[in-house]
Amino acid sequence: MAFYDHSFLWSFVPKSVAEGMVINMISKKMEMLGKQPSKIREIFEYSNKRRKEIGAENVFDFSLGNPNIPAPKEVNETIIRLLNERDSIDVHGYTSAIGDLNTRTAIANNINKRFGFSAQPSDIYMTSGAAASLEITIKALCNEEDEVIVLAPYFPEYKVFIENVNAKVVEVLCRENDLQIDTNAVKSAITEKTKAIIINSPNNPSGVVFPESDIKALAKVLNDYSNKSGEPIYIICDEPYREIIYGNIEVPYIPNIYDNTIVCYSYSKSLSLPGERIGYILVSNKAKDNKDVYAAVCGAGRSSGYVCASSLFQYVIAECDGLAPDIEKYAENRNLLYDSLCEIGYNAIRPDGAFYLFIKSLEEDANEFCEKAKKYELMLVPSDSFGIKGYVRIAYCVSYEQIERSIPSFKKLFEEYCG
Ligand code: PLP
Repeated sequence: MAFYDHSFLWSFVPKSVAEGMVINMISKKMEMLGKQPSKIREIFEYSNKRRKEIGAENVFDFSLGNPNIPAPKEVNETIIRLLNERDSIDVHGYTSAIGDLNTRTAIANNINKRFGFSAQPSDIYMTSGAAASLEITIKALCNEEDEVIVLAPYFPEYKVFIENVNAKVVEVLCRENDLQIDTNAVKSAITEKTKAIIINSPNNPSGVVFPESDIKALAKVLNDYSNKSGEPIYIICDEPYREIIYGNIEVPYIPNIYDNTIVCYSYSKSLSLPGERIGYILVSNKAKDNKDVYAAVCGAGRSSGYVCASSLFQYVIAECDGLAPDIEKYAENRNLLYDSLCEIGYNAIRPDGAFYLFIKSLEEDANEFCEKAKKYELMLVPSDSFGIKGYVRIAYCVSYEQIERSIPSFKKLFEEYCG
């Protein structure tokens, strides 16, 4: 037996004591997080159960934000070509921890071409998608008890990432009528502990896009405060839906408006590659102490074990970054769902981007409303876990036919309340 094999020592510890010790050895915080049911997953599992019981065509599952348009064909062609043409050891081997230089160069060039910015490859850190980008960025910026402002409604994982570093989530509600940024409310929420604010536009779950004028107003509030305090407040832009927009909507490029910006990007939605886990962080080279922030990003990535994003997909992105997704199907779904639900009488926020429709619950408790919706096989997500009460999220990245077939159920649900 090797000297360091502790199982030998454990054999002397009484079973009851050993069990107690094992329980005490794991992190309670992580155990609780692992046991916390995710509302979205819960609804998705219930949908699966109903699909088996009554047939998939009779269940209207609007729970998950999983893209249902295929990745552009160029992506698949590039994967196949890379596997055929490149050396197998090379294509599957580690890149440098921060990411392949060619990939980072392609991304920087593309950012500069599209947005007239001045990104350098050395400002970019490759990650396993937006969740990793956010986790790393929050860890890089925050010390214990720092505060991060999130605009409700917001993506629930922000809370997990912020609380993981023992920083504090400060929720600021968006304006009630249109779910746009309430700049005065943000201003009131800033304290000397505010380290960052997360901006997600196009927004999950509301589909709202924040216009340039509002971002400029927000930037002014943040700059005014920083000019007095001498400390920057960073904007963390979470933008996996940047390319999924409808009509002539512009999504402002925040690094052009506000210097202390860090962009968390992902190809999960724009190229329909959520399972491949690929994205990046851009630390604006105009941000205060940007080299130190970038070093902290590297440190945070290292401490979280994100030492190298998928090599194959980094090489794919070097060739496919900038491909425009074909979002026509999402646009058709949005129009059908929004128009039909408004016609029935629902109060909905018209989405300018992403693939979610946010409607007002027909009773105060959105959880109860979603429970009633299940009677009509409508699987909807109540808004409470997005930090706001009284709304429901409908993910319309589903087939057009599913939406068509679901409309009579939405009508019956409405009539149950208002008939
Ligand atoms: N941010 C938002 C707003 C999201 O909706 C999602 C995923 O749905 C993520 C981040 C995480 O994206 P990824 O799958 O790239 O980690």
